[in-house]
Formats: sequence, C-alpha cells, structure tokens
Amino acid sequence: MIIDGVRIFDGTAMLGPGAVEFADGVITRVLTEPAAASDASAPAEVIDGTGLTLLPGLIDAHTHVFGAESNLGLALAFGVTTELDMFMGPPELTQALCSAAAERADLADMRSSGLVASAPGGHPGHAMPLLPTVAGPDEADAFVAARQAEGAHFIKIIVDDGANHGMSLPALDGATVTALAGAARRRGLLTVAHVSAGWSARLALDSGVDMLTHLPLEAALDDAFVSRTADERRVVIPTLAMLEVSAPKTSSPSRTGRSLADDPRIADYLPEHARTAIAEGHEGLCVEKASPEHDFTHALASVARLHRAGVPVLAGTDTNYLPDRACPVVHGASLHAELALLVQAGLTPAEALTAATSAPAAHFGLADRGVIAPGRRADLVLVEGDPTQDITRTRSIAAIWRGGVRLDREAYRGRTA
Ligand SMILES: [Zn+2]
Repeated sequence: MIIDGVRIFDGTAMLGPGAVEFADGVITRVLTEPAAASDASAPAEVIDGTGLTLLPGLIDAHTHVFGAESNLGLALAFGVTTELDMFMGPPELTQALCSAAAERADLADMRSSGLVASAPGGHPGHAMPLLPTVAGPDEADAFVAARQAEGAHFIKIIVDDGANHGMSLPALDGATVTALAGAARRRGLLTVAHVSAGWSARLALDSGVDMLTHLPLEAALDDAFVSRTADERRVVIPTLAMLEVSAPKTSSPSRTGRSLADDPRIADYLPEHARTAIAEGHEGLCVEKASPEHDFTHALASVARLHRAGVPVLAGTDTNYLPDRACPVVHGASLHAELALLVQAGLTPAEALTAATSAPAAHFGLADRGVIAPGRRADLVLVEGDPTQDITRTRSIAAIWRGGVRLDREAYRGRTA
C-alpha cells in the first residue's frame, strides 16, 4: 500500500507532499516528494492523497476502558489507535482485554496501569471495598510488586481528598507517595499521579512521580511550580476535555467538548447514547459542591505556562464512558476536543498533534508507534485538509489503519446508527 501526493505530519513536523508506503503492518518507506516522481517500483495499491494529510495514529494518554471492548472500538473509529488506561480491574480482565486489543484490528490497542494506589478509605476505594490500598510507606514496594506481577504497564497513584466531590476522605501522604515512586523506579515502571488540586500537585511533585495528570481548577499553577516541573523533567497530562465539562458552567462557559455533538464529522459516527451523553451527561465536580473559584480557565492558563516552560504536555481525555454511565467525555471523539482545547491553551496545532502522537509514544516508551518513519507500526490516520492550520481538520477522517489494516469506518457507522 502506498499513499501518494500526501502531506505527512510525521509526529513532529509537516513533510512533503510525499508518499508513505507500508506492508505487513509496518511503514517501509517515507518519501518527501510524490512517489510518481521517483523511480519507485509499482506498488500493489495506491491511494491518491492529494489535498489530504497523513498523521500517526492518535494516542489518548488518559482513558478508562472499564473492561468494555466497545470503548476500544469507539476509540479506533475516531483515529485513536492506542489508549493508555489509567485504572481498570480486576487484573484478569485487564490482561484479557490488553491481549485482545493487541491482536484485533477492530479495536484500539491499549496499555493499562491496572489497579490504582490509594489510601485506605480514600478515593476511589471508599466505594470499592475490594481495591487493595496502601496504608503507609512500608506497604509501597509490595503494592508495586503486585501490580507488576499482574502485568501493569505503569503505576497510577491517587492523591485526592475527595473535596472535588464534596467529601472529606483520607489521602496518601507524601512519605507514602515517595515510597511508591521509588519502588516503581527500582522496578522500571513509570508513575502517574492523579492530582485533584494545588496541594496534591505539590505533593506529587515533591514525591518524585514521573507524570502528573489533571490540573487544579481553583487556581492556575504558579511560576515557581511550573519552573520546578520543567527543571525536574516531569510530564503533565492535563485532561482538559474532562476538566472543561467538570467545571461549573457559570464560571467556565467553554463548550468545546459539548459541541462535538453538533459536529456531523463526529456525531454521525457516535452511537445515540454517546451523542446524548456528550450533550447532556455530567462529570466530575458537582455544580453545587464547586466553589466560585473553580474555573476551567485556570487549567488553560496552567497548560500555557507549562508549555512555555518546556514541560511536555500529553493529550489525554480521562474518558470513562460506558453506555449506562453518561460521561460526556466519550472514547475517541473526545480526543478531538482535547486537541482543540490544547490549541486554545496556546499550543500550535502542530504541537497539539505532537502531544497526541510522538510525545506520548516517547514518554511512555512506545518505541514502535507515534511517528511516521520506516520501521514503525502502520497506525495511520488520513484526514482532509491540513490540521496544522486548522486543528478541527483531525475530525475530517478519510481513512484509518491500525497495524496496516484499514478500518471499515462506514460499516462501523452502519452498526452504530
Ligand atoms: Zn482518570
């Protein structure tokens, strides 16, 4: 297969118009001028890419699959070829789904943290009595070893006192998070800390975790915090798509995520219950529990400061959608809102695309994907127009290949309609 005459966003920069050839699931050649003008031997099948842009398959760096294959199918239908799941169980189900996702051409591939580390009685274990917890630093190494034995690809740590949900719950303390981060580092696993507010972001940074996910809504991160995050080479996954719909409407009238339901390029490929969830579903902060200072623009300002300071920012949505749980942040579709929100925060469209392709691949050690280059997986998304000029062009999907296998997107649309 060769896609010819196409603009190529290789994960960092725009090349071409040129040509990309792949065979047996792997990219074999990348030419920076059209193949017709070169001395290439005639390939079996040629797609005319004139006016189109080829992107690496998109990577959502914060999702919750919740054991539902349908979520991985929904993700792939919107060009998300890899999801990084940030909490799922039980471990046997996580392993089975990771194995299925590695093989099947109709699902996004996935990696998972498996079960999260949290305090006894804390978020989210207060509602899940079977979830193993970490009572103190002495239990950290055994916790990490157990997750590693279950096949966890990284370690997720919850630093949250429940205040965003109107509760007052015990949270992991600094000594315990430090011990978890150290145990994971010794065992060769990355750590990702869920931070709920300014205090928990500071605790995570002080404790040496590799990545922070979510951002405070009550205030933007200050310059001292941001420069420390840069100096200590941490990575941030803001989850703007989730924060936007979580913030009280009164303080943050931003509607990027909600407006996906009005965009036929998205809505036409959504099951009806997902379209309804995007338009009307609820997430995160209960409006009546949020205080007036909770404002989505604080998160946008934090992303702008982090990005200016050189902190890698990864695109992640925190989608935790299930048909019977009307979370407005839907698998696959919501990554296109996240890209637009990263641009609102001040990234260029090309930088936002990097945040959803080569950057998560590099920071999560996915060396086989995220970049259009010879030897990488043929995870590819072909879109109409130039998304480095207009980020919403990622929604104008012409074709999707996962591991070199083209998704029959119209058949998917037929099944969901
Ligand atoms: Zn999450």
